[in-house]
Amino acid sequence: MCGIVAYVGKKNCQNLLIEGIKRLEYRGYDSAGLATIHNGKIRIVRAVGRVANLEDKLESMGGLPGTVGLVHTRWATHGGVTEFNAHPHADDKVGIAVVHNGIIENYATIKTLLEEKGHKFSSQTDTEVLAMLIGELYEGDLESAVQAALREVTGAYAIAVICEKEPGVLVVARKGSPLMVGVGNGEYIVASDGAAIISHTSQAMMLDDYNVVKITADGFRTSTIHNVPVTHKVQQLELELDEIELGSFQHYMRKEIFEQPKALRNTFRGRFNAEEGKVILGGLADHAKELVKAKRIALLGQGTALHAAMIGRYLFEDLAKIPATSEFASEFRYRNPIIEENTVAIAVSQSGETADTLAALHEAKDRGALALGVINVVGSTMARETDAGVYLRVGPEIGVASTKAFVGQVAVLTMIAMWFGRRRFMGANDTGSLLHQLNQIPDKIEKILGYDDLVKKVTERYIERENWLFLGRGYNYPTAMEGALKLKEISYIHAEGMPAAEMKHGPIALINEGMPAVFIANQGKQYEKVMSNIQEVRARGGHVIAVATEGDTAIKRYAEDVLYIPDVPECLSPLLAVVPLQMMAYHAAVLRGHDVDKPRNLAKSVTVE
Ligand code: GLU
Repeated sequence: MCGIVAYVGKKNCQNLLIEGIKRLEYRGYDSAGLATIHNGKIRIVRAVGRVANLEDKLESMGGLPGTVGLVHTRWATHGGVTEFNAHPHADDKVGIAVVHNGIIENYATIKTLLEEKGHKFSSQTDTEVLAMLIGELYEGDLESAVQAALREVTGAYAIAVICEKEPGVLVVARKGSPLMVGVGNGEYIVASDGAAIISHTSQAMMLDDYNVVKITADGFRTSTIHNVPVTHKVQQLELELDEIELGSFQHYMRKEIFEQPKALRNTFRGRFNAEEGKVILGGLADHAKELVKAKRIALLGQGTALHAAMIGRYLFEDLAKIPATSEFASEFRYRNPIIEENTVAIAVSQSGETADTLAALHEAKDRGALALGVINVVGSTMARETDAGVYLRVGPEIGVASTKAFVGQVAVLTMIAMWFGRRRFMGANDTGSLLHQLNQIPDKIEKILGYDDLVKKVTERYIERENWLFLGRGYNYPTAMEGALKLKEISYIHAEGMPAAEMKHGPIALINEGMPAVFIANQGKQYEKVMSNIQEVRARGGHVIAVATEGDTAIKRYAEDVLYIPDVPECLSPLLAVVPLQMMAYHAAVLRGHDVDKPRNLAKSVTVE
């Protein structure tokens, strides 16, 4: 959560900082704040709400000059959404300003000690404690003070720090939250994500945990918090500007839903040969010998990524015949999990920075599992900390509610399960024909996207209802969960997703006259059972919206509304069934007048536990 951009160079940086932080606004949007140093003085401007509010404030006061500066957009963890709690935070001794992403877990103890020394706090944040601590430890060198302070703290941080006594210096550091340094011509731009850097330079270095970088317009030096020098490779950012621009779309979420066919074609490119029944995953090649011995798969994720992991479980059991589990990474991490020999843990995450999943990954590795990543962001922490993996290659996802990353995750898990299956029980013909089907998924999604007007009409019909059910069985039970999550996230309608069979064990009590129940009722092993569940809802006055297979006209007798998806093998059906649910959630949010890309209380990548 939270976005950071910082600059040191030769030009006035306010506009560059604002342009950069706007690109990171998906990471948090409770408040925003900017600080620069000019004539040896730090000036800070902060505003509650969106970056636009900060911009207005800056404009009305004539702006902040300065060639060194930092900016932040907050996703509050400690202290309410107020201007006092907005970053940057300053110390009360030296003239230091800090922006921070993460949580300082031992802030209360440090705060007490600092209060005993007479420091006066003006916010409830953990970040202000860090600013005061750096000030307290300052003895004429900002880099050393930051190192010393970070040796005292526990928790997660990406920080950028400036100091009035060293006006040309920017010090940044990270542990657990992402941060990179973009290297320009006589200037450096530090950011939580490449999106804030790419319009200025494509050269960047990724920081590792406990790295501290001291940067001036003339160069930089990287060390650890214990002042051990570190050498870093500057790498090429794999990001294009048009990938992060809205173009003709009204919202990123809509753009990303409509990008899914193109995104999946990228995911697939060069990774299989349907004619020969071959899956070619370069990211697994180095560990192929160990992987084929896998006896158990543990899939880990949170939110939408967990739903992809749940589908992965079905895929691994069906296609590779390997016992598989999927679970909340946050629960796995703390429940003393049993990792037997030849267990492969698969971390599923769009950002590769999800704190819960990262912690679970560490736990699984410590217990001897081989770690794979199914991740979108290249070079992210998880990508670096897994033994092997397969990138999604769906391009940057900016809308807070994940869409194309979900289909990318499911598609990659399908390919990985087939990679395993082909080395075990799947013949070349079976693999080949499934790969042919997989290859056609993008075209079939395109067809579903063509029904956008119909999906909108159906959504409109139920838009006043405050409670919805999403039901499915087998592969599409997780899809139902995902449909419910999408609706909750952006339209704030209460929705529950569950296996259709579970409904009669309790939730059926919720059904009243006109309650919308979305059934994923595609043709598959459990079609008849789903039909019975539909009848149970109808009998109680519920309204059924069915996602059904093209050609199934009989379903119109049971469902008030039908949204069709093309016919595919059952194991591929979530890749299609989820699309109308994404569109429905999108329309519901727009119809209710919500900010689709920045839903309340949420942020894109959850980098705190
Ligand atoms: N823990 C800090 C706060 O609540 C930083 C949160 C963030 O990452 O935005 O202000």
